[in-house]
Amino acid sequence: MRVFNFSAGPAMLPLEVLERVRDELIDWRSSGASVMEISHRSKAFIGVAQQAEADLRELLGVPPSFKVLFLQGGATGQFSAVPMNLAVEGATVDYVNTGSWSKKALLEAQRYCTVNVAADGAASGYNDIPPVAGWKRSLNAAYLHYTPNETIGGVEFHFVPDVDEVPLVADMSSTLLSRPIDVTRFGVIYAGAQKNIGPSGITVVIVRDDLLGRARPGTPMVFDYKAMADEGSMLNTPPTFGWYVAGLVLQWLMERGGLKAMAETNRAKAQRLYAAIDQSGFYRNPVAKECRSWMNVPFTLARPELDKQFLAEAHQAGLTALEGHRSVGGMRASLYNAMPLAGVNALVEFMQEFERKNG
Ligand code: PMP
Repeated sequence: MRVFNFSAGPAMLPLEVLERVRDELIDWRSSGASVMEISHRSKAFIGVAQQAEADLRELLGVPPSFKVLFLQGGATGQFSAVPMNLAVEGATVDYVNTGSWSKKALLEAQRYCTVNVAADGAASGYNDIPPVAGWKRSLNAAYLHYTPNETIGGVEFHFVPDVDEVPLVADMSSTLLSRPIDVTRFGVIYAGAQKNIGPSGITVVIVRDDLLGRARPGTPMVFDYKAMADEGSMLNTPPTFGWYVAGLVLQWLMERGGLKAMAETNRAKAQRLYAAIDQSGFYRNPVAKECRSWMNVPFTLARPELDKQFLAEAHQAGLTALEGHRSVGGMRASLYNAMPLAGVNALVEFMQEFERKNG
């Protein structure tokens, strides 16, 4: 039986995609082999790869002046690839720290550059975004990095900060494809696939052409954006299976009306859950209302001693992976594209019933 899986990642994939993968697993397109067992340089696989890129470009409106790369190493690999590609040794880079993932990104960047923390959400306990007008940006930053959605804290930018001419770099791991974005506002966008795009093991990087070819000496080839772009992300063997599944997810998104339709559903899902939390005296989400994430909704119970019981009963009801990140505890419901509104409704009903019995 399929459950409503609220995992933050690797996360729920659309059932239709999994069924298609199952149906063509053993004998892909009458080739007598699975897609995992054919050369990445075969005509058939190149077709899959190119279609996925074309669909991603169409969904996000990626202009021709940007490259789309399908890499390995996860978003964490990009924590180092970004400074290696965009900043010469000794350069200053600006980072905005809104929580766990931006902190990890900036700690990694410190190994390569001088990091100026332009803004830090510590004063609000990382439950709010420091106002952009107060950001202390450096004069010659090679780029500004931020995390549009903090997967653990559930803090999300519902706007794109204006940083003038400085290349804006965004870790969109837990928000890419959840709504339309204006790609032209960014220098680099990157995302691990395992939330909204596909299985883990593939990393999408969208990079503006003028930022290519600047990698510092010593950058590993597989992390050099230009080297990878020149080879169509096939400088070495790419994660072919993940690329194929991502392609099916992209088709699934197109069939469902693209990112505008996703945004509407995602907004409705989040509103339903936040409304239920706010209306109860039993559940609580600490994040400032203007920056509550549509994708990851952390919440606590008024009586934390009931956490285990809550999780066990939720699991029984087919609502899984609701435990909060190990660093913060409590609960977290991740509501990526593949989570239907019915899943959120089921969660809300379960929560109300649990409160009625135990509150
Ligand atoms: N950034 C964000 C916002 C994330 O949510 C995650 C993973 N949860 C990462 C980076 C790290 O991604 P990966 O495990 O693909 O390296």
